[in-house]
Amino acid sequence: MMNFQTITHATTRYNLHTHTQFCDGHATMEEFVRAAIDQGFTHLGFTPHSPVHIDSPCNMARHRLPDYLAELNRLREVYGNQIAIYAGMELDYIDGTEQADPSLTALPLDYRIGSVHFIPSFVNPQEYIDIDGRYEKFKAKMGFFFHNDIEAVVRSFFVQSMKMLDAGGFDVVGHFDKIGFNASLFSPGIDEQPWYDTLVQRLFEAIMDYHYVVEINTKAWQLHNRFFPNRRYFGLLKKNHTPIIINSDAHYPALLDSGRAEALQSLQHASIN
Ligand SMILES: [Zn+2]
Ligand SMILES: [Zn+2]
Repeated sequence: MMNFQTITHATTRYNLHTHTQFCDGHATMEEFVRAAIDQGFTHLGFTPHSPVHIDSPCNMARHRLPDYLAELNRLREVYGNQIAIYAGMELDYIDGTEQADPSLTALPLDYRIGSVHFIPSFVNPQEYIDIDGRYEKFKAKMGFFFHNDIEAVVRSFFVQSMKMLDAGGFDVVGHFDKIGFNASLFSPGIDEQPWYDTLVQRLFEAIMDYHYVVEINTKAWQLHNRFFPNRRYFGLLKKNHTPIIINSDAHYPALLDSGRAEALQSLQHASIN
């Protein structure tokens, strides 16, 4: 496995969560590399949304895997003396199919971020619904697929997350309480209730037991003032000396650095109690 701490101890100018033309990003890998160099980054990791066995427009098509790796090698040859470039993937946890798929597990990648974006529909549990998208869509899906039962949706997200930790096959836990954002728009304050906190604590304990690296995801900071995990858990991360990487989950080159300074500062000021 890649040694993340070698990077994080050396610099804060890294981003290891980047989406490009190979999934739902809005620029090419090369445009990201150039932007990263311009912005003074020294390390850049690409993490296309993994191919999945269900229909999903945001995920990478399986047949593009060789192109992805070829482009990565080409960029390393062209820009490798200016920036370290890593081959990653944001591996979806749906029902464990992807974690058991040799065509994904055998890929020559430097690291994988494990993330939950889908939970089973309450109407048809064989169907998996993307609950990660914009709030307007999430709200509509709450009625279509989840009987508007927000607590059950939150619990399902954490069940999926726990299953992902058990299944393994990745190095970094991506945006581990992200459901709290859409859920708190649907039901303000839901993520401050004791049962929600208990779900996060349990998941966090399992993360520690398995020795995963935790990502602080800054994608929503600029627009919504929220990190994933939520800032309120930064003290917990510090207290447990959890290995942390800070990622912008950039889909646009201009947002590569978005929220990084604020996350670093919040982490520094987080109190351990
Ligand atoms: Zn994600
Ligand atoms: Zn992502």
